[in-house]
Formats: sequence, C-alpha cells, structure tokens
Amino acid sequence: MNGEDSEPFWVSKSLEQLNHQEWESLCDGCGQCCLVKLTDDDTEKVYSTNVACKLLDIESCRCQDYEHRAEKVSACLLLSVDKPELFKLLPETCAYRCLYEHRSIPVWHPLISKDRRAAHTNGLSIRDYAVSEEFIHPEQLEDHVISEI
Ligand code: SF4
Ligand code: SF4
Repeated sequence: MNGEDSEPFWVSKSLEQLNHQEWESLCDGCGQCCLVKLTDDDTEKVYSTNVACKLLDIESCRCQDYEHRAEKVSACLLLSVDKPELFKLLPETCAYRCLYEHRSIPVWHPLISKDRRAAHTNGLSIRDYAVSEEFIHPEQLEDHVISEI
C-alpha cells in the first residue's frame, strides 16, 4: 500500500464521495436517531424523547424494515448530504455528524475497533432506556422528553 491507499475511506473521502456500502457502514447502531423527536412550535427547539420508533428493534437497535422505512415512517430522518439540516439532530458521536463537521470518528467506532457491539458497550445505545412507540399514546410523548437537541 502506498501512503494514500493506507488512509481509510472515512479519513480520505468526504461524505459526498462515499459509495453505498461505505455510507451504510458509518452507522454504529446506537439507535439515537430513531428516538421520537418533539418540536416546540413557539421556540422551534427540538427535544428528544426516550420513545423509540415503532420499527426499531430496541434490543439490537436495528430498523426492522430499513428498506421500506421511508414509506412506513414519515418522521424517519433519511440522512443524506442533500439535507444538511438533519446532521445537527444526530448525537455528536455519530460518524455521519463527525464527518459532516470535519471531525474524526470516535476510536471505539466499529470501523476502527471491529466491534459491532461497540455502541452498546460504550454506553451510547438507547437499548437500556428506550421504550417502543407502540406502547406510548401520542399525548404522553411530552412526558418522555429526555433532552434538548
Ligand atoms: S445516530 Fe448515527 S450512529 Fe446512531 S443509529 Fe443513527 S445514524 Fe446510526
Ligand atoms: S423507520 Fe427505521 S431507521 Fe427510521 S426511525 Fe424508524 S427504526 Fe429508525
């Protein structure tokens, strides 16, 4: 390998340059972007709840119908470089946000550590505190706010 080839794609490429497989591999599976968000219409502030999207399998933090997520969940973020406003809704540890903000991805990230469970073992996954949207009435969502984004 020459010096240029030795750089991993998340260092050598911008988000715009990633192929599909590279793009998908950036997700560490924390599930944080799948928590239901609430927006205060007066202040436009956005809040995260501990309520997970109905399609999220909370134990694995994986979408149960990723291929059809756009049709099934209108609020799904559907990250894309064409929608820069979405990156600020992601946690600061999310590799998409890191690269968007020209920061390094975390050293524990599965791409570096080779540990697919790294988000769980580093305490970043929602697995231990999320409840499924299936069991929460929409009027109860405000009671589940956990942070301002
Ligand atoms: S916040 Fe980022 S790393 Fe976590 S599940 Fe969403 S896209 Fe993946
Ligand atoms: S549809 Fe899937 S990817 Fe989108 S928010 Fe729900 S669980 Fe997450």
